[in-house]
Amino acid sequence: MSDNTPRFEQPDPALYGPTKKGPIARFLNPVAGFGVTFSTIFRPTVTEEYPYKKVPTRPRYHGLHKLNRYADGLEKCIGCELCAWACPADAIYVEAGTNTPQAQFSPGERYGKVYQINYLRCIFCSYCIQACPTRALTMTNDYEITGPTREGMIYDKGELLVPLAEGMLNPPHPMAEGTTDADYYRGAVTGPTQAQIDWVAENRPDDPSLKTAQASDRQEADVAC
Ligand code: SF4
Ligand code: SF4
Repeated sequence: MSDNTPRFEQPDPALYGPTKKGPIARFLNPVAGFGVTFSTIFRPTVTEEYPYKKVPTRPRYHGLHKLNRYADGLEKCIGCELCAWACPADAIYVEAGTNTPQAQFSPGERYGKVYQINYLRCIFCSYCIQACPTRALTMTNDYEITGPTREGMIYDKGELLVPLAEGMLNPPHPMAEGTTDADYYRGAVTGPTQAQIDWVAENRPDDPSLKTAQASDRQEADVAC
């Protein structure tokens, strides 16, 4: 009966055996570990002195998230939860609210009433950004994400929503007259209209954004054409 059991050959000791060193190499063995130290000791320091000196990130660095607005101040988030479903770390929590004529926060029927990102879970993969249908959610280069407690690392809508830019009108307020949510998505709305400003002045005369809101009538021309 023949023996068909596979046999493994012994490795060639010249290739896989211990390295043979000469007498000088053996003599230097105890200090060989300092070779890298001595070869770099006189090179310029490359340690970044954060937080005393902040070095800019790469342009496409994935940092803190932001919830964006349209040019008239309405929020881009429509509370669809697609970002939360796309998140592999289950770091996003969204609760949608219904827009009403007296409380319109975003174009269309719904807005993001509760929005939270748990930065103890987030791995900055940006899947949420890619899932967002309205470009409401984007990421900045900001890497200074801290919190005093575990709860403090859960950023809510107040921390994520961008402040009003110059000329914007604080929501809630109606959509620009004669527009649909599709006009907003196409970028046809370029600022608050006089009718929107008048509505806020009538319903919230103390709203601080009234002082700086600038009426824009460009969107009417854009939508009409
Ligand atoms: S960047 Fe990734 S892990 Fe962080 S919230 Fe978005 S989808 Fe989730
Ligand atoms: S951020 Fe975008 S994907 Fe997430 S709920 Fe808002 S609109 Fe939907």
